[in-house]
Amino acid sequence: MPDKPKLSVYWASSCGGCEIAVVNLHEKILEVDRNFDFFFCPCLLDTKYRDIEALDDGAIAITLFNGAIRTSENEEMALLLRRKSQLLIAYGSCSAGGAIPALSNLSTRAGHMRTNYLEGPSLDNPGGILPQTATLVPEGELELPAFFETVKTLPQVVEVDYYIPGCPPESKQIWSVVEAVIQGTPLPPRGSVLGGGCSTVCQECAKVKSDKKIAAFHRTYEIVPDPRQCLLEQGLICLGIATRDGCGALCPAVNMPCTGCYGPPEGVADQGAKMLAALGSDLDLGGYKGLTEEQVARQADAILAGIPDLAGTLYRYSLAGSILRRRSQ
Ligand code: SF4
Ligand code: SF4
Ligand code: SF4
Repeated sequence: MPDKPKLSVYWASSCGGCEIAVVNLHEKILEVDRNFDFFFCPCLLDTKYRDIEALDDGAIAITLFNGAIRTSENEEMALLLRRKSQLLIAYGSCSAGGAIPALSNLSTRAGHMRTNYLEGPSLDNPGGILPQTATLVPEGELELPAFFETVKTLPQVVEVDYYIPGCPPESKQIWSVVEAVIQGTPLPPRGSVLGGGCSTVCQECAKVKSDKKIAAFHRTYEIVPDPRQCLLEQGLICLGIATRDGCGALCPAVNMPCTGCYGPPEGVADQGAKMLAALGSDLDLGGYKGLTEEQVARQADAILAGIPDLAGTLYRYSLAGSILRRRSQ
């Protein structure tokens, strides 16, 4: 049998959930093995950096790259895998939008160092030692990757061919890409989002929608929502209105609000801003008659204060890729 095309799955700054989604292919993983040389996956295989470097450029057929770019090592691997891969796919929300790792853009590098190495109540660091990129020990010099000030998305570092959205993506999306390559089916134009639609989660959500007038927000444990009615209308912060469709409205279908993992809808540059704009017209301010602009703003602020961590909620999956990108310094 001729050499099988090479498949790689890499994690940069990530949680490992995207790798679990690959394993969730269940028996189809055997089909993957039959058709691909599963060459590189630090979570499962002991392939070394030098093994990747030794490959010809373009020698890897598909790389599923999950995770955001937090460190110099993440960036180096992104550049290397771009060079070695025919198809580089931003796989999962962290890679496409920064997601959870990029929420650290709401703080600073110095702030992280202080919290994690100097102020934690369980720390024992009387010398106040912080991680260094180079440390001399009797055996030689130890190196650590540089920790960037700002978390980036994969497409902010290298060109990507496709996006597979989700946190993590669903196994059926991974399979459809793998199957298309196996069968030689033409893929959509470069830059497309595979497995995502061009509308919003609200469009595929079966809940009854009426006029939204939200007087107060609730945490999911505080109320038992009416399963037939739109969750946002009941005061649960559901980001379906500002999130790309394609998942089949999985979360609202089981009465959990959409947290936005498919990222912004087609043509929307900033998912958080889109959601905030939608909320602006959905809050119940009790009528404007007789109220000054300042009083209206105070009332809106009071309702929005019911959302814990507003920035983290609206930008949970998209901060690094948004217009906002990070907190100003
Ligand atoms: S997209 Fe979600 S599952 Fe995948 S690495 Fe990021 S946080 Fe984990
Ligand atoms: S806001 Fe949420 S619950 Fe309401 S229609 Fe949209 S996806 Fe469904
Ligand atoms: S409903 Fe929202 S959070 Fe849930 S899977 Fe779909 S896009 Fe992701």
